[in-house]
Amino acid sequence: MSDIIQLLPDSVANQIAAGEVVQRPASAVKELIENAVDAGAGSIKLIIKDAGKSLLQVIDDGCGMSPTDSRMAFERHATSKIRKAEDLFAIRTMGFRGEALASIAAVAQVELKTRRHEDEIGTQIIIEGSEIKSQEACSSSPGTSFSAKNLFFNIPARRNFLKSNPVEMRHIIDEFQRVALANPGIFFSLHHDGQEVFHLPKGTLKQRIVHIFGNSYNERLVPMEEHTDIINIKGFIGKPEYSKKTRGDQFFFVNNRFIKDAYLNHAVTTAYDELLPADSFPFYVLFITIDPVHIDINVHPTKTEIKFDNEKVIYAIIRSAVKRSLGQYNISPAIDFDAAPKSTALRDFVPSEASFKMPTINFNPDFNPFEQSTDRTPSSSSFRSAPQKANVNLGNWEQLYKIVQEDELKQEVHTHPLFSLPEEKEETPKFKLSENHAFQIHNKYIISPIKSGFIVIDQQAAHERILYERYLNSLETHKGNSQQSLFPQTLELAPSDFELLKEMFEEVKALGFDIREFGRNSVVVDGAPADVAGGNEAQLLENLIESFKQNATVLKLNKRDNLARSLARNASLKAGTALNKDEMSLLIDELFACQMPKVAVSGKPTFITIGLDELLKRFTS
Ligand code: ADP
Ligand code: MG
Repeated sequence: MSDIIQLLPDSVANQIAAGEVVQRPASAVKELIENAVDAGAGSIKLIIKDAGKSLLQVIDDGCGMSPTDSRMAFERHATSKIRKAEDLFAIRTMGFRGEALASIAAVAQVELKTRRHEDEIGTQIIIEGSEIKSQEACSSSPGTSFSAKNLFFNIPARRNFLKSNPVEMRHIIDEFQRVALANPGIFFSLHHDGQEVFHLPKGTLKQRIVHIFGNSYNERLVPMEEHTDIINIKGFIGKPEYSKKTRGDQFFFVNNRFIKDAYLNHAVTTAYDELLPADSFPFYVLFITIDPVHIDINVHPTKTEIKFDNEKVIYAIIRSAVKRSLGQYNISPAIDFDAAPKSTALRDFVPSEASFKMPTINFNPDFNPFEQSTDRTPSSSSFRSAPQKANVNLGNWEQLYKIVQEDELKQEVHTHPLFSLPEEKEETPKFKLSENHAFQIHNKYIISPIKSGFIVIDQQAAHERILYERYLNSLETHKGNSQQSLFPQTLELAPSDFELLKEMFEEVKALGFDIREFGRNSVVVDGAPADVAGGNEAQLLENLIESFKQNATVLKLNKRDNLARSLARNASLKAGTALNKDEMSLLIDELFACQMPKVAVSGKPTFITIGLDELLKRFTS
């Protein structure tokens, strides 16, 4: 039998490589704008059509290429950035693999126009699917214009695999923002389908952040700078009160290269300690400079991961530097040695006495479970409100603790602080229990008797379910009730959020938001869904966008489901809200009118049922 192994033709090899380098339009964008940065450009313009599916174009005023180099640039492993193996350990450019142009040209219809500043005339190359269609001299301005049309035109499976335009555009904006943040000294712009989404003049890092994320960031930023023998850190961290529910706006750059590093991210987050509200992520843009011999950037083809040789030290430096900045700018809670001598962590978490209502324990001292009686319902007069701390026989409690399960014990201990607060002088009103009377405990759960026992409703989960179904319905029928605000509010958004909002303008209106575009990256909110507490409609809309983004990345929901869910989440009444009798019965009625009353939007139960038989079992075992 003859030999069967052959070298793959270049076009096939390039297509295989492209699979790694160009996964989606955004990865091509990243490569192209990084090339422009490496070429020393002072201005980089990105033009996108159809979320990059029809056109990706990058125009720079960098060094340009000679006619020979511009042909060479499309060969695989052709690079001007490193020459020998040792150079790998001293990389100062963004690119170095020499794979990007070859890969992009393998999967798109590419036109390159380039001219060096010293040349009179430029070069134009047209190449499709790795095949050179033409190369000729042309007139062009100094620098390079690279356009890639119809990405994956020759790999239909790949093209079909691309996500919706908003999703692909989101990825493009992410990549664009990273490079733009790392290079505030370069002008950047981004046009999408003829509209300018970003216009970022040259300036300082702070100005760049504000241009990208909006004017409100002017007051949100705390500068940070730290110099050590091993690394230098510079940049900005966000004030804790502005942290967001999505992880998105967190940027680490190592030697100007964007990286993702969960470990270092942890260093920053823990430095905020309890300053951060639960489940929220601080903003940061931090630049680490380190001698390239201490890092290995060659670990991943898309190069967002880096290995440090002394990670632990770097972790410690970052953590303490963030802490120090927060402290310097008076953001950490100041320790005041004169005041509050017995301040404890617990005290800080417990509401003030005035706002605190003691939970009450009601019992019927005359009740005898063994008594055979036709009328088991104790008269309300035989209920007594237990005086606080009275009748607590320590011996009995110890007995009890011995028999409860481990986890029950934990719960008990967890709620314990509530019961050990200073005594309340006032007489606590008695509960009047009747068959159809619901009542609330801890401003969190609603307890309602039912025939076979009682149910405990999680008020927030229940309200979320009600709103979620209502909003889904609004989106379907386009008949969301809107309530006009007394004062229209203007909301300025980050350009990327504004783009996102534009993509779902109709849906947001269908939910009941009365909004209109108002100049660059702003909307005016004239009204909000009718069932939403008034006053902060703009804030609600902003939160809606935040939750939407979070759900889109974590849960991969469709647009409508995501919107309904996000709004329900933000508009629902929260645990801690006191409800009157009417509100409770309305909530119960509406919950049971839902299509799926039993499950919360999160998938957890909205209520639990406790049967009389179970109670009996508990009391007799
Ligand atoms: P790499 O960036 O890893 O070197 P690429 O395939 O991205 O590999 O680019 C190949 C070469 O083409 C680069 O090394 C550079 O010399 C040249 N090049 C690419 N884009 C530009 C540009 N916008 N301006 C000038 N030269 C460029
Ligand atoms: Mg490159």
